[in-house]
Amino acid sequence: MKNFSVKILSLITAAVTVLSLCSCSFGKEKDGFEKEFFAMDTSVDIRLKCENCEETYKQIEELVSSLDKDFLSPTSTTSSIYKVNKNGGGEVDPKLVGYLLSMIVINNKSGGAFNFCMGSLSELWGFGKENPAVPSAKKIKELVNACDKGAIAVDPGTREITFSSPLLKLDMGAAGKGIALDEIKNEILAKSNVTECVAAVGGSILLYGERNFSVGIKDPNGAGYIAVLTLPPCCVSTSGNYERYFEKNGKRYHHILDPETGYPVENGLAGVTVISENGTVSDALSTACFVKGINNSAGLLKEFNCSAVFVTEDKKIYTTKGIADKIEITDSSYTLVKADEK
Ligand code: ADP
Ligand code: MG
Repeated sequence: MKNFSVKILSLITAAVTVLSLCSCSFGKEKDGFEKEFFAMDTSVDIRLKCENCEETYKQIEELVSSLDKDFLSPTSTTSSIYKVNKNGGGEVDPKLVGYLLSMIVINNKSGGAFNFCMGSLSELWGFGKENPAVPSAKKIKELVNACDKGAIAVDPGTREITFSSPLLKLDMGAAGKGIALDEIKNEILAKSNVTECVAAVGGSILLYGERNFSVGIKDPNGAGYIAVLTLPPCCVSTSGNYERYFEKNGKRYHHILDPETGYPVENGLAGVTVISENGTVSDALSTACFVKGINNSAGLLKEFNCSAVFVTEDKKIYTTKGIADKIEITDSSYTLVKADEK
């Protein structure tokens, strides 16, 4: 088995946001419940419609906090990922094995664009740290070589993870928030009487209920929205170059890295939003498609039955065919380029 991947960094502000939870603006109505907490290095906003929302909210808070602290966090000394990274491998919980196996599949199908073994490389760049600097080309190259395909092996039987290089570190940052959405849906909502829920874990959002929801795509250059998607229940994730970055000598260095070069991806994209039934998939594919770019993502999206919206730095919006009729551009400085016109 081959594999890769990230560290739990997150969006400081959500790149996609739910505008209203129902036609009657659920969340602001008396019967709507909304509360937020902090986990996975980001804010987690929960809106609910149910009989005992406070109780359900507490369950969600506990679940996501534990998923972070006990499983996915690269810095919590009690987390499985922290321990595996520290020891250069070892046995992990069955739940984590399942997620890692899914991520290996996405790594393979994305041709390595989604690489969750690049924790050391992200650490080297130091995005989000106080004084980040552009690392030396030599050091980057060394880590790129270490993170190459076949970087970790997962044995589903023994649940043992083996690293091919001591320089590797697993980084769940590109899929962790999506994993949280799947956990919220499967472990809590599906077993409850909740009729509607919108859970936004940073830039990944779960839309749960039996109606359409409005989701805004954030302006990469400002605080507002550039477009609104009308979507049935699903998971929506955005990866962008405008949430976590630093600037040196007038150049922006952002947190999504090209696994082939070890440098931030520069392909004219500002952000990619992916829509899927599954949160792990929407989150991982938003990162993978950001790396692959507009022209090379169609096969991957089709393979996972996903739709996507690509926003370019020169203010064009491209959509896959499945989503073209579900988007409304709200900022007239952006132009919608339909999939078949690309
Ligand atoms: P966010 O964490 O802001 O939600 P993403 O889901 O796109 O955004 O994840 C980006 C994070 O994933 C980075 O901060 C880094 O930890 C990790 N990462 C960077 N490049 C890649 C890549 N090519 N494949 C997988 N993970 C990556
Ligand atoms: Mg992602």
